[in-house]
Amino acid sequence: MPEVKETVLEIDLEALRHNYDFLRSRLRPDTKFMAVVKAFGYGSDAAVIAKKLEELGVDYFAVAYVHEGVALRESGISIPILVLHPQIGNLDLLIAHNLEPSLYSLKVLKAFLAAAGRQGLLDYPVHLKFNTGLNRLGFWENDVDFIKRELAGHREVNVKGIFSHLAASDDLEEKDFTQTQIGTFEKITSEITTVLGYSPIKHLLNTSGILNFPEAQYDMVRSGIGLYGYSNDPEIDRQLKGVGTLKTVISQLHKIEPGESVGYNRAYISEGYRTTATLPLGHADGIGRQYGRGKANVLLHGQKAPIVGNVCMDMIMIDVTGIDCQEGDEVIVFGPENSAEDFASGANTISYELITGISSRVKRQFLGD
Ligand SMILES: *Cc1c(COP(=O)(O)O)cnc(C)c1O
Repeated sequence: MPEVKETVLEIDLEALRHNYDFLRSRLRPDTKFMAVVKAFGYGSDAAVIAKKLEELGVDYFAVAYVHEGVALRESGISIPILVLHPQIGNLDLLIAHNLEPSLYSLKVLKAFLAAAGRQGLLDYPVHLKFNTGLNRLGFWENDVDFIKRELAGHREVNVKGIFSHLAASDDLEEKDFTQTQIGTFEKITSEITTVLGYSPIKHLLNTSGILNFPEAQYDMVRSGIGLYGYSNDPEIDRQLKGVGTLKTVISQLHKIEPGESVGYNRAYISEGYRTTATLPLGHADGIGRQYGRGKANVLLHGQKAPIVGNVCMDMIMIDVTGIDCQEGDEVIVFGPENSAEDFASGANTISYELITGISSRVKRQFLGD
């Protein structure tokens, strides 16, 4: 791997392939795979990730918002794209780019039918999203009659999918709750299928759902975090490969005397003779202030070095006392040996938040093709 000269996020497309193969191996061969590439492919690069996944044979993509789907279409993605959370003001744009909306409320359903009518659409693919316990987005079970009335006699849309989302698929202590969600989904899908007279693609599981509740895989699964190398389960994490490695270099070393402070507001006071290294990345790059004051470690020549003092906008300082190093040496913020999950957990957060927050200022570099 090339030595870096500045902060870069290395994206390993071979790791992506590995993770996809691993997740697929947990599924029935005929289960469709929807790859979730919202939030710039979980902070990496949606277009490059999606192109690779399309090549690997995924059936579907999911994004959160319409403009994310538009960007994928503009980068040449041609397979179906589900927009999980379309806004009513963007429905014409969604249709213009052949994106499939999640219809999650009476208001959104009516707005979409109106847009479809205006544009003279026939059998346009949509997905109905039901709330089965997350209480975030989705129709309620007792909306089925309303949906039936709205759709009766309308040929503008075709209900291609029906789905819900689990609240605690990663938490086996909440297994009963998840089983109840699965039961509710079961009931709703059979009602809808009866009402429609045809059977839409049923999809429920996210990554942790695939790993913990494979019996509920239905026709398709929606996986995000697992593709990027994390699973919410340390055992499984060892079998996945982190797609992103955040690397930087030492800009400057400082010898610190006992009682001296480091950084803004003197948040770190040295108790002895220490050596610190200043690194060219900060909260504007996605390493938030919660990682400062010793909460997270980076890796320098295979050794852990904690962030000292407050994280600045463009820099952090780390304690490198006792580590043989020089200005210009490479530092791994997170990567194969110190995962984003480990880095994040020190500051009481999760890999999802850390990796999706790496800002566009950080150059993306790609490995593999
Ligand atoms: C983000 C999201 C997913 C992907 O979840 P992972 O835990 O990253 O696999 C699946 N479904 C919905 C509705 C989502 O919002």
